[in-house]
Amino acid sequence: MEGVVPGNLDEALSLMSSKKYIPVAGGTDLMVRYKRWKNLVPSFPAVPLFISNLRELRGIYKKEDFVIIRAATPLSEIEANEEIPAILREAVSLMAAPGIRNMGTIGGNIGNASPAGDTLPPLYVLDADVVLLSEKEERVMKIYEFIKGPGKTARKDDEIIYEIKFKVPEITHYYYRKVGTRKANALSKLSFAGIAKVEKDVIKDFRIAFGAVAPTPVRVMEIEKKVIGNKIKNLDKSFIENIKKEFENHIKPIDDQRSTQYYRKKVSLRLLEVFLRSL
Ligand SMILES: Cc1cc2nc3c(=O)[nH]c(=O)nc-3n(C[C@H](O)[C@H](O)[C@H](O)COP(=O)(O)OP(=O)(O)OC[C@H]3O[C@@H](n4cnc5c(N)ncnc54)[C@H](O)[C@@H]3O)c2cc1C
Repeated sequence: MEGVVPGNLDEALSLMSSKKYIPVAGGTDLMVRYKRWKNLVPSFPAVPLFISNLRELRGIYKKEDFVIIRAATPLSEIEANEEIPAILREAVSLMAAPGIRNMGTIGGNIGNASPAGDTLPPLYVLDADVVLLSEKEERVMKIYEFIKGPGKTARKDDEIIYEIKFKVPEITHYYYRKVGTRKANALSKLSFAGIAKVEKDVIKDFRIAFGAVAPTPVRVMEIEKKVIGNKIKNLDKSFIENIKKEFENHIKPIDDQRSTQYYRKKVSLRLLEVFLRSL
């Protein structure tokens, strides 16, 4: 199989500016996507550029209030790092199995843009930025602007995902649930990520995202705003039912081999209710 292993990031970017390559980090999505029959090497539609060896693309850093995760950092390092907010660590710890988490990277999970990508709902509620680099420029965009649809992102062919960064939020509550068929190596039927800050019985911050119930993770800030500012005592049955109703229009799951529309919608809204009640 033809492939290129650049020696450093500049070389990788220079190669990517000259023709189309497919960046390969851990390969845990790509090797499955392009596999062929037994004893045949995978068939990539463009030359693979192996980037997981690039030091510039690895590591977790803290800079002022920000946590920065370089794109080719393996999932297992994220799971183990205490600077990372618990909601993201927990989501990562429930992905795949240890061997895949040692190979698979956060940049790969984002680059794959699967509706069931498990790092995405926590990154949506953390308001994460995706930093893209090409030979010419650096671009920064919110994760929810970067993810465009199943397998589709705003990445241009000459760009590499360089890092993911977010401000660590001040929160009092978080809730993460992945609903899968079994504990290991199960892709999400659906997932829920929620964070909130409650101070003196008033909701100061409230952010939630649903995974695997629409072409991209679902986060609706207009609905979040209706929760923020409320006193806890206002979160009665009718308030919670109204918020669930508002989300109903945004949760548009499909029937597939993993689950049904009915189940996905029902359980997602139930998890929202559980989170609201937990406040
Ligand atoms: C058995 C098994 C179980 C799994 N379980 C889960 C699970 O529970 N949850 C889940 O979300 N996923 C799961 N996955 C999918 C996969 O492991 C993850 O999505 C992982 O994070 C992919 O990372 P990677 O580095 O291997 O990606 P790769 O396969 O290397 O790449 C994936 C995509 O991202 C692009 N890409 C990668 N890095 C960059 C970069 N720096 N810049 C630009 N583009 C880039 C690639 O070109 C490709 O399009 C599973 C996979 C397997 C095989």
